[in-house]
Amino acid sequence: MVIIMKTDIFSKCFDFYHQLEAVKKAEQYFYFRTISSIQGPEVNINGRRFIMLGSNNYLGLTEDQRVKEAAIKAIKKYGTGCAGSRLLNGTIDLHEDLEAQIAEFFKKEASIVFATGMQTNLGCIQALVTQDCVAILDKFDHASIIDGCRLASGCFKRYPHNDMQSLERLLQCEPEKPKLIIVDGVFSMEGDLTNLPGIVDLSKQYGVRIMLDDAHGIGVMGKNGRGTAEHFGLEEETDIIMGTFSKSLATIGGFIAAKREVIEYVKHVGRALLFSASLAPPLAAAASMAFKIIKTEPERRKKLWDNAHFWAEGLKTLGFDTGYSTTPIVPVIIGNTDKTFEMCRYLEENGVFVSPVVPPAVPPGRALLRTSVMATHTQKQLERALEAFAQAGRKAGII
Ligand code: PMP
Repeated sequence: MVIIMKTDIFSKCFDFYHQLEAVKKAEQYFYFRTISSIQGPEVNINGRRFIMLGSNNYLGLTEDQRVKEAAIKAIKKYGTGCAGSRLLNGTIDLHEDLEAQIAEFFKKEASIVFATGMQTNLGCIQALVTQDCVAILDKFDHASIIDGCRLASGCFKRYPHNDMQSLERLLQCEPEKPKLIIVDGVFSMEGDLTNLPGIVDLSKQYGVRIMLDDAHGIGVMGKNGRGTAEHFGLEEETDIIMGTFSKSLATIGGFIAAKREVIEYVKHVGRALLFSASLAPPLAAAASMAFKIIKTEPERRKKLWDNAHFWAEGLKTLGFDTGYSTTPIVPVIIGNTDKTFEMCRYLEENGVFVSPVVPPAVPPGRALLRTSVMATHTQKQLERALEAFAQAGRKAGII
């Protein structure tokens, strides 16, 4: 017989498990759902077909034959992994070609790729925000930025979402300390944009640097898909552009692009790079091909935006609150957590996949369904999903 004692380090797991069981029984659990098909506009779950409205595959490139073939070709030449860190045995020419491509695309002197976007933020922030330095974050910044700050020996402060007056007050504190403003370009839950023009003005006034996490902006924002900085015409003023390959770029991995000196420093000091194996060859090849496609096929971005406008307008016309989104990420703000799960359940019954986002991932009272469209959705699929939303919203008493 196993005796569960308070001093057992697993006791929290047992408590958590019981709570989880209760949530599942109440049909309020919509996480870790098992998809058994490609991540396209429709997916298979438990033998049923769902319209996928919760994917970051914005340009639909995970399905692209050229991207898939580039990955296969790389496996044939280099194998499935590099078996070591970049510093030692894990650097291959594919990494360096991809870095040159990224630097050129973002008009920066150099770039470095990491194995994931999360690791990029961990490694870059830990390396730069050293003792006596201050990172300044928007309250809605992604968790990987916060975790990077926690790993760093410097300190970090946060200002209320997009509040430039509060940001200025933080910049006025401890003027002797070097500071880095770290901010999402497109906020990942509500799809609104950072006030980059305001941030750039303040950064110039107070002599601080900017790091832009544009995970959801690259391939999506800007005339050429170079992201939020391009959208605002502020690429030169943005000191570090950070991105991931796990959204528009169809695979997994991350990068920063910046001045040569910054890249060399992060390469030699960023622990998430130094002490972790390098990006696997098929992933580097897939990202490289995806960049090429982004550069040469603007029609994908146009289709994405046509779909985003159609989808957001459709939801608003039905009477849903879509917050301040101006991007292909469109939140449906419900407020109440139970109602959010209820909506999710009705939508699931009607064959629509969306992601419920509830506190603490969002502020209390701001539970929402995160929806996002892809370039590859057809108008018919979006119309069907709108119909499902209309039915679910009425049943749940939201519209
Ligand atoms: N930054 C932002 C803004 C993100 O949304 C994410 C992932 N959702 C990441 C960083 C981490 O990227 P990855 O999933 O590629 O590790």
